[in-house]
Amino acid sequence: MNTIVMKFGGTSVADTDKIKNIVKIVSKEVKKNKIIVVLSAMAGETDKLQKYLDDFKSQNSIESDLVLTSGEQVSIGLLSIALKKEGINSLPLLGWQVPIITDDNHEKAKILKIDNKRINKFFENNDVIVLAGFQGINVNGNITSLGRGGSDTTAVAIASAVEAERCDIYTDVEGVYTTDPNIEKNAKKISKMSYEEMLEMSSTGAKVLHTRSVELAMKNNLILQVLSSLTKKSGTFIVDENELIEKEIVSGVSYSKNEAKVTISGILDKPGISAKIFSLMSENNINVDMIVQNISQDGILANITFTINQKDYNLTKSVLENNNNELDYKSLSLDKNVAKISVIGMGMMSQSGVAEKMFKTLAKNAINILAISTSEIKISVLIDKKYTNIAVKSLHEVYNL
Ligand code: ADP
Ligand code: ASP
Ligand code: MG
Repeated sequence: MNTIVMKFGGTSVADTDKIKNIVKIVSKEVKKNKIIVVLSAMAGETDKLQKYLDDFKSQNSIESDLVLTSGEQVSIGLLSIALKKEGINSLPLLGWQVPIITDDNHEKAKILKIDNKRINKFFENNDVIVLAGFQGINVNGNITSLGRGGSDTTAVAIASAVEAERCDIYTDVEGVYTTDPNIEKNAKKISKMSYEEMLEMSSTGAKVLHTRSVELAMKNNLILQVLSSLTKKSGTFIVDENELIEKEIVSGVSYSKNEAKVTISGILDKPGISAKIFSLMSENNINVDMIVQNISQDGILANITFTINQKDYNLTKSVLENNNNELDYKSLSLDKNVAKISVIGMGMMSQSGVAEKMFKTLAKNAINILAISTSEIKISVLIDKKYTNIAVKSLHEVYNL
């Protein structure tokens, strides 16, 4: 018998009727396959838990992960009850029971190991394992979480560990679209795309898949399908680049409103200064994305701008303030009113003019560019957050998506 992994997101477990709908989907596969269902918390639950933590300013701690991961305990319990009511033998499991072993970076833990011998043991008496997504346990025995949206990564990691035949990610849209279908109604479903394109889309804000889930799927050559739990239509397959016959120049537009812009002004323009700033960031586990340095006219002082995840706003501020003795800058400003807009496509590697089109379109809409970064298959710009929708819509149109 093959094993298949089916992951259901928050909207697919939002209420007991939706949970009963999952029972229907699972029951179609249960006779032919061993099934691991990975679940998120019920829609809105993790946000609610996050708000409690925000009230206490609790972050990246044993306690914050204990609270954040509690929503999945409820959803797996409820689905297992619903499966058993239909005569399906199921076993609900929390991350530590597998165990899914992670490092100890609370709220952004990485999976280190999954013991698949125990999974096989669990299947001796059960047909379906219902696994809590988003969580693991570190070597000190504390519960960790994988970062918001991390259940996708749980699904891919477990699918890789058991060499599953398929990993289906059920969500509230019918697949991966040319841009977020919730902000552009003309967005089109993509039937097949490469890991690389999906990786760029996720990492630039398309939350339909957790970035690390795509990385892991690519590493293990695991085909992913993103599809809806509410319709029966086929979704989007994420596959190796070689399986794509036609490579689109631009295949999608994504946006992220989770960025914050950090500007350090009046810092000495001398060798080693960037190294100092960015080693402080990495020592504190703060991911830096776009970086722009302006050299002053006198050649003595410079300004450095970079972007971080909004979650790291307070930490970044205090790290930079506490180190001003050493850095010796004139002023520091942090701004959450920014958004990153990206265009992505494999064909960009061999085609010129994509950036020009992007910048001209933004200019036509009077949108100022605050920072730019590029990769072989992606161009990203930082803009004022209030222009997010107009930027996404106009770029979607100009590239004929
Ligand atoms: P789940 O709870 O199932 O994990 P998420 O909310 O994490 O679902 O991801 C699905 C959402 O991702 C969609 O509702 C959609 O708004 C958003 N999204 C952003 N970009 C895209 C895209 N390019 N294609 C599809 N969905 C996208
Ligand atoms: N419940 C978690 C979250 O909302 C994990 C997930 O949904 O993937 O971030
Ligand atoms: Mg998600």
